[in-house]
Amino acid sequence: DRLHMELGDRGYDILIGSGLLDQTGALMAPVMRGKRAFVVTDDQVGPVYLDRVLASLDKAGIAHDHTQITHGEHSKDFAHLEALVESMLDARCERSTMIIALGGGVVGDLTGFAAAILQRGVDFVQIPTTLLAQVDSSVGGKTGINTKKGKNLVGAFHQPRLVLADISVLDTLPRRQVLAGYAEVVKYGCIDDADFFTWLEANGDKVIDGDVAARRYAVAISCRAKARIVAADEREGGIRALLNLGHTFGHALEAETGYGDEILHGEAVALGMIMAFRLSARMGLAPVADADRLEGHLAAMGMPTRLSKQRHWNVERLVHHMAGDKKVKDGKITFVLARGIGKSFLTPEVPQQAVHDMLAEFIGA
Ligand code: NAD
Ligand code: ZN
Repeated sequence: DRLHMELGDRGYDILIGSGLLDQTGALMAPVMRGKRAFVVTDDQVGPVYLDRVLASLDKAGIAHDHTQITHGEHSKDFAHLEALVESMLDARCERSTMIIALGGGVVGDLTGFAAAILQRGVDFVQIPTTLLAQVDSSVGGKTGINTKKGKNLVGAFHQPRLVLADISVLDTLPRRQVLAGYAEVVKYGCIDDADFFTWLEANGDKVIDGDVAARRYAVAISCRAKARIVAADEREGGIRALLNLGHTFGHALEAETGYGDEILHGEAVALGMIMAFRLSARMGLAPVADADRLEGHLAAMGMPTRLSKQRHWNVERLVHHMAGDKKVKDGKITFVLARGIGKSFLTPEVPQQAVHDMLAEFIGA
């Protein structure tokens, strides 16, 4: 599949297929300004996939250097950004060098930001290797790092020149990571595509278990949705914020659990979407049946839909984390709520009491 991100002269193709990795060089050639590339990957993806990418660059006559970062969210910080930019300069990266991000969202966000600031901006290509990165983070041009104060607080909009989503690399992705990425797939159904949600109810297990056609379809529909929303509102002045469905509550869960292994980002989004639908139902905006349907599907796919009883959850602390999120304007949180599956909308008008009551009920459930 070939999709196009419509952004005028900054527009780019999103290619989705099996075995694209071995064609990286040839597929990149049309967007290359020079004859050199610099590949960034991590220490879990590199050992498995880097050689195939480098071989394809050789075949296309593209000279290359590469570097490997330590995997994990901790690498998305100032220290790793500095080291990465210095290694790019050591390798004599120029304005015409194509930077390649080969990995999940961590590699993509960090590398994209390095590309944005190196010599005031060099071109880069995204080769996302997690389901989450293929359906979400590699498309749309948000790049950045975390700071002590929170996630993604420093960054830049810097669109890639090309996205290569090779479905077959998902075969080595641990199941828990597949499920976490799947939450973002379900998100697109919940935002504005009820038919896709219905398709996922019938085919989600195939997407998760590795059926190639099902994965291709799910990634293509998700990328198409993301590209359409980003094209309409690149800088998130309005409707791009719909992509944050489940994220305000999800961020609170991630902040509370330290952005680690206890709750992965996608798992937090799954829980956060259920919370957004429960809140919508509580406010009389959405049928309870739609909240039940969402929770039922996520549970059926094997995602956590309840909070762990191991931890003492506290409503006030969760609200506090929500208020610390980026999506706050003049002290008011813009919520993504829903009138039902596929009918999400933005509103700053949410009574605090309804949020408190929903959280109290969710924590107790
Ligand atoms: P990740 O990059 O940490 O990858 C998850 C783990 O899977 C890592 O340990 C990685 O080494 C491993 N891995 C990656 N590909 C693999 C493969 N094919 N086979 C085996 N193992 C593989 O996590 P992620 O979920 O891809 O991305 C999360 C990050 O993305 C977060 O930092 C989040 O903030 C960011 N994000 C950014 C955007 C955006 O618009 N820029 C959107 C959503 C999320
Ligand atoms: Zn997300």
